[in-house]
Amino acid sequence: MAKRYQNFIAGKWVDAKSGETFEDRNPANWEEVIGIFPKSGKEDVDEAVAAARRAFPKWKAIPVPERGEILKRAGDLLVARKEEIARLMTREMGKILAETRGDVQEGIDTAYYAFGEGRRFFGHTVPSELPNKFNMTMRMPIGVAGIITPWNFPMAIPSWKIFPALLCGNTLVFKPASDTPATANALVEILLEAGVMPEAINLVHGSGASVGMAIVRHPDVDLISFTGSSAVGKVINAEAGKDLKRVSLELGGKNAQIVMDDADLELALEGVLWGAFGTTGQRCTATSRLILHEKIHDQFVEMLVDRASKIRIGNGLDENVQMGPVINQAQREIIHQYVRIGQEEGAKLVLGGHPYEEGECKKGWFYAPTIFVDVKPSMRIAQEEIFGPVLSVIKVSSLEEAIAVLNGTRYGLSSSIYTQDVNAAYRAIRDIEAGITYINGPTIGAECHMPFGGVKETGNGHREGGWTVYDFFSEIKTVYVDFSGRLQRAQIDNR
Ligand code: NAP
Repeated sequence: MAKRYQNFIAGKWVDAKSGETFEDRNPANWEEVIGIFPKSGKEDVDEAVAAARRAFPKWKAIPVPERGEILKRAGDLLVARKEEIARLMTREMGKILAETRGDVQEGIDTAYYAFGEGRRFFGHTVPSELPNKFNMTMRMPIGVAGIITPWNFPMAIPSWKIFPALLCGNTLVFKPASDTPATANALVEILLEAGVMPEAINLVHGSGASVGMAIVRHPDVDLISFTGSSAVGKVINAEAGKDLKRVSLELGGKNAQIVMDDADLELALEGVLWGAFGTTGQRCTATSRLILHEKIHDQFVEMLVDRASKIRIGNGLDENVQMGPVINQAQREIIHQYVRIGQEEGAKLVLGGHPYEEGECKKGWFYAPTIFVDVKPSMRIAQEEIFGPVLSVIKVSSLEEAIAVLNGTRYGLSSSIYTQDVNAAYRAIRDIEAGITYINGPTIGAECHMPFGGVKETGNGHREGGWTVYDFFSEIKTVYVDFSGRLQRAQIDNR
């Protein structure tokens, strides 16, 4: 019997008001049901928002360092449960254990960063233009945060949002992806055990269209932090904009790695294998375009195809496996459709291009590592996010052309260049249009204490991670203290 899970609303574990449920299944073995979850709706969201609103004055009254200590305990509990949660996550969404352990570790790192931030949480003191007057800024909590997250980083992404939101004094309603609800329950259990005030955190399971939209539209939700596709992000932004809600959007990518003719090819090869096929290509920062200088193109493609053809595919719980399944059947079909589109557009398939159904893999949603060459920058496979293990190789003849090709999509999340020429590296840093640029590293590998986010249709200008996310989750108050004992008029009396 699969375990039955519940929502956490208004301080209690509860079923959906409708009584309806949905199943969470293992993409490596679709017969395995991980759990049964409440299929909630607007009425559940209404209760959750009301609880978060009630808790807000009490939660924000706790001193910031004390809220930080609660998050420190959450980090400690994540350490204690790291292996258990990593295994659950691998069963729930398929990526290999090394990666799910890394996903939990990112939550731990983010908790400890929030703990430290609790004793900083700096404002500014700034001189006044008038005598006997003191100016400063301080950070204020905002209110109730709606947190909506995708399935590809089921612990890291919620913790990037939830820990800073709580540290800043906000309360929240959290809707995790329908494909990874069990990891979300583990995170909420940990936050409660760590000492977060029960009504300050509310977990509501259910679909994006019903639960997600109800959160976005709720008049008592003050801010929305969303990570997911650009298509859904645009809908959320339009809806939330009607009430002037603050919205942070972390959206899709079409990231590229450039390899110049002077690059260390072995290093660049390790980078692209990890960037393109890690997490089965299902990262917002995945390398889905490889831009090769013509002088090394043929040699590099040969090296790449040889290594990619040897990637060990299977259930991520097996420590020998290097690449797990894709998230579900629908996503596998989308990937396969893109392969057909690539062929129709005239790109040459040199590896994969089909579902992978060897042995036990026929029980799940596996897809072979896939590589196209002779890809033109305008082709759909070079423009649209595929979100699977599909790499499009584009040949160029100069650094300028490489950068122009890299920049030539509507996205701008991550980017990478392999070169040993320091001048080329700095030109790339200056000219690449992306939120993140790696020099001699793959497009993936974010560290939690650095800003994370993208330009163009990858987002709306906010950054998660590091110190920058605290700007999103707090309001700045400007304070003037006049101790002159008389009326002093700025711009007038001192001129
Ligand atoms: P998605 O389909 O956009 O879903 C993301 C979340 O939004 C899920 O919780 C989903 O719920 C919910 N949702 C769907 N429709 C909604 C609506 N109309 N209103 C409110 N919420 C709604 O994306 P995904 O397939 O989970 O994730 C893959 C995408 O996320 C890719 O595009 C990837 O690039 C992007 N991503 C971006 C970043 C970044 O930081 N830039 C990081 C990771 C992933 P259900 O699960 O119930 O559908």
